[in-house]
Amino acid sequence: MKGQRGFSVGECLSVVAIIALLAALMFPAVGLARRAAQRTVCISQLRQVGLAIRLYREDYQELPPYLSAVRIYVSDPRVFVCPTDPLEGKHAVQDTLGDSLRLEGNFYLPTGVSYTYVPNWGIARMLGWWQPGPPYGEGKWGELTPLSECHWHWARYFNPRWQTDRITGARGWVLVLTLSGAVRRVRAELPPEAFSPEHYY
Ligand SMILES: [Zn+2]
Repeated sequence: MKGQRGFSVGECLSVVAIIALLAALMFPAVGLARRAAQRTVCISQLRQVGLAIRLYREDYQELPPYLSAVRIYVSDPRVFVCPTDPLEGKHAVQDTLGDSLRLEGNFYLPTGVSYTYVPNWGIARMLGWWQPGPPYGEGKWGELTPLSECHWHWARYFNPRWQTDRITGARGWVLVLTLSGAVRRVRAELPPEAFSPEHYY
């Protein structure tokens, strides 16, 4: 029976360690691939929202008063909900200042809205990005003026002050739908008062 033996404890531990190492190497890759796929879906949704806004403007000659007002121009109301948004667009609408409605949540649309609508930000008006109230005009930077944003690709939880302040610890990318309908990226660390289209990626 010489030469026949099972695996030693040391060999078993080595195999377990190698499997654990491979798993540790693979799971972040799976997570990254998943986040990349979600980002792609979100970009596609923002483009659809941009197209819907263009159609709305052709019909009414002005921008919609809020984002989900373009609901009739999209095939599915779920395009307003980012796949990475843990609250699925159902954020409480909070407006203590009177004119700085942040996210629509499910205020107008029961299925929820994940995206911000820049023309309604108090800070965007204060900085002259948009005129105060419809028809808003073309915006400070014309076709490059930010129209809507998705913060869910860096944010872990909802923060109604996303655009009025630099958020402590913010790191990552914000997806931005511009007035032209293109979707760009901008750093979450950048405070609104420092924004200009040169910061787009
Ligand atoms: Zn998103």
